[in-house]
Amino acid sequence: MGAIDTGTDDLSATHRGYVAGRYRDGALSDTWTDVTRCAERTFIAYLARCGCGWLGEPHPADPDGYHTCQRDLIRNHLSSIATPRPAGTDRSPDDMPR
Ligand SMILES: [Zn+2]
Repeated sequence: MGAIDTGTDDLSATHRGYVAGRYRDGALSDTWTDVTRCAERTFIAYLARCGCGWLGEPHPADPDGYHTCQRDLIRNHLSSIATPRPAGTDRSPDDMPR
């Protein structure tokens, strides 16, 4: 279904990311809906969404928006979870040297 997970068993149970579509009534599609196969204008926006409740920014409901959502999910959510932090540090990934 196009779901993206961290590849780590204990995390993927909670963190199952996917691209959700926002319907005209404001509801979001579930993880079983392949938004790329829905009729045009079914959705007003695409959003990256994760099973843990995390929700990304809305993007246009088109192929570019879909890919932006996938990047959004990996960069802004899954990558920060999948990267173990050294014990005793409290820094967010944004503070790490680039
Ligand atoms: Zn998550």
